[in-house]
Parts: sequence; structure tokens; C-alpha cells
Amino acid sequence: MDGSCLCRGIKLRIDAKPEALHVCHCIDCRQFTGAIAAFLLPVPRDKMTVTGYPSGYANTSDGGVTVKRFFCGNCGSSLYDVGGQEPNMYYVQAGLFPPRTLPAPGKEIFLRSAEAWTIRYPGCKVSQTEVKQLVDP
Ligand SMILES: [Zn+2]
Ligand SMILES: [Zn+2]
Repeated sequence: MDGSCLCRGIKLRIDAKPEALHVCHCIDCRQFTGAIAAFLLPVPRDKMTVTGYPSGYANTSDGGVTVKRFFCGNCGSSLYDVGGQEPNMYYVQAGLFPPRTLPAPGKEIFLRSAEAWTIRYPGCKVSQTEVKQLVDP
């Protein structure tokens, strides 16, 4: 799969098709993306190639671990994060990839900060907090 930021200065190539999206409602994802949830592709770090020079910002996440988030310093697109619960994975912003190429959501996390009027996606495991606490809805 090939994706890019809005200005196309940064390109992302994923060599494995992810099986499902993660939907994350955490406060950090809200502020990082400017949207009320992040739709993320989980990708092993050795399966993604980044071309260009992303900017990065690290903080302690809603889940209590240090997460570094990368973005395009030119156009501002949110790109991916690394260093959360599964440090060998990139969590890549799904909207960087072309329409109709994405798998359906499989996990929804940090529901404790989801807007009350949002609807749950069918077939997703859910968690009020982090991915380690997933349960059937
Ligand atoms: Zn850009
Ligand atoms: Zn999040």
C-alpha cells in the first residue's frame, strides 16, 4: 500500500496488508489529528518504508507510556506513532492511503473518551482504555 501526506513530501509504503484498523478515541489522538478519533493501521516496523523527513513529538500518552508521534512539518498531516503498548509496531494514520483500500475496524480503544453519540463499528473488540484490556462488546 502506498500513501502520502497532503503535500506529498512524505511517502509511506507498507509491504504487508494490515488485517484490521484500530480506532483510538484517546485524548492524545484527538489532539494529534484534530479529529475526534484516529483510524490506525498497525504495521510491523520492518514492513513500512518512509521517504522524506517527518517531524516528531514525544509525550507520555493517555495509557501512561511514552509515544512519539510523527507528522509532516510542511503540510501538517498526522503520519504515524510508535512506542506505545507494542513498541515493534507503527500505528499509521489510515487516511493517508487511497480511498477503498482499507480494512474494516477490528478494535476500538479508549472508549472512555469517545463522544457519547458515536456509534460502535460492527465486529470490533472494545476497551475503555488500552489495547491490553480488550473485550467483546
Ligand atoms: Zn506534507
Ligand atoms: Zn490514541
